[in-house]
Amino acid sequence: MTDEANAGAAGLIPEKLDPVRCAEKRLEYSGTVKRQFLTRLADMTESLEGDAEVSISFGRDPSGVFIMKGRASVPVSLVCERCGEPFSYSLQADFAYACSARQLKELGAEDIYDAVELDEFGDLSLYGIIEDELILALPMVPKHDISECSVKDDIQVFGEVKEDAPSEGNPFAGLGKLFK
Ligand SMILES: [Zn+2]
Repeated sequence: MTDEANAGAAGLIPEKLDPVRCAEKRLEYSGTVKRQFLTRLADMTESLEGDAEVSISFGRDPSGVFIMKGRASVPVSLVCERCGEPFSYSLQADFAYACSARQLKELGAEDIYDAVELDEFGDLSLYGIIEDELILALPMVPKHDISECSVKDDIQVFGEVKEDAPSEGNPFAGLGKLFK
């Protein structure tokens, strides 16, 4: 199937594509990425509870930079760090990249975007970048809403800082003696 025939049709997101060509044609994709392609994400969560829903649009920004913008979401199960029980979480990521590192440099817009990395054939691994973005969107410390958590007492002590007995005045006071 050609990109054009695939674009716009709800269905599967292509695994690989030529992002510059897509941007020239202003293609849009929306559909799913099957969960079995998201093995790294599966390893970093308790489980994936469904396929990823993805929408991506290609085009140019006002200064002519070829860009792709997208949103991906996937239902996952995470383990609550407060009570140790799994809970459902809707993981969502928004992202935007330039489609060509070379063009980005030519237009001097490297401060605005990161460029996608292409393989030796000039193709972008769309599944790879979608998975990377979802992994980045994982919460640092997954927790239930407090209303749903079985541990109600949320007093957490992260390596309680024990103050040393207050030193007497200037901690360098003793140094003076050394220089007598
Ligand atoms: Zn919990």
